[in-house]
Amino acid sequence: MQDRVAIVTGASSGIGRVVAIHLAKLGARVVLISNESIRILEALEEIRAISPESEAFEADVTSLPCLEESVKLTIEKFGRIDILVNNAGITRDALLIRMSHADWDRVLNVNLTSVFRLTRMVLKPMMKARYGRIVNISSVVGVTGNPGQANYVASKAGLIGFSKSVALETASRNITVNCVAPGFIATAMTDALNPKAKEAILSRIPMGTMGSPEDVAHAVAFLASEQAGYITGETLHVNGGLYMG
Ligand code: NAD
Repeated sequence: MQDRVAIVTGASSGIGRVVAIHLAKLGARVVLISNESIRILEALEEIRAISPESEAFEADVTSLPCLEESVKLTIEKFGRIDILVNNAGITRDALLIRMSHADWDRVLNVNLTSVFRLTRMVLKPMMKARYGRIVNISSVVGVTGNPGQANYVASKAGLIGFSKSVALETASRNITVNCVAPGFIATAMTDALNPKAKEAILSRIPMGTMGSPEDVAHAVAFLASEQAGYITGETLHVNGGLYMG
């Protein structure tokens, strides 16, 4: 990935941060986007030690002007965008009957609408360059469903359909669009689960352990590589056998 320019959203913590580090180690110049002001600077410092030209923008992915500014500054600095990893995501869990309209809107805006917006923005330079790798972070529950997560599941299933459609629209330009669907990965998102819920999930995982952000990062890096150029519209499951596509 020498000299490739990669944007990673939600890169200040969890899976996104490890993905950004991994891409930097492979030679990419990484542009971090996140709404966490202090953590994003810490992440940038860590990544610049590996890939000195890397950059970070504090931006809420639900803000169109923030996204536009981040893409504009990326193009101004590097003149190209080769890789986009749409990783930023949140949960706001509740049974549907109690789910607020605000929680539905927030989850769909962060997890899905932002991906539409950012993908649309980066496609222009990618189409011009006739090269692009887009990796969207979905989830195993986007395929299986999950009670209490109708908003989150709708967003993650939406990403899979979205990726297939954009893959069809851009295949002739040497742009690939794929999903990685993590299972149960040890991050702040899963830390929030109570011990009983964690145990119940662990008992269903054939490999018997939670995955690590590194497990996901390897899958993302593969789909973001030149070598994965004949794979598009796919969903790569990283879940210890919890679900087999
Ligand atoms: P995390 O909470 O550790 O990190 C989420 C990241 O997204 C943070 O950097 C946060 O700053 C960023 N983010 C959230 N809202 C944002 C916004 N409005 N604007 C900009 N950035 C924002 O979560 P994680 O576990 O690392 O999750 C990363 C992705 O992986 C998410 O899309 C999540 O849905 C998906 N995923 C996680 C798991 C898991 O088990 N952890 C499983 C399946 C899918």
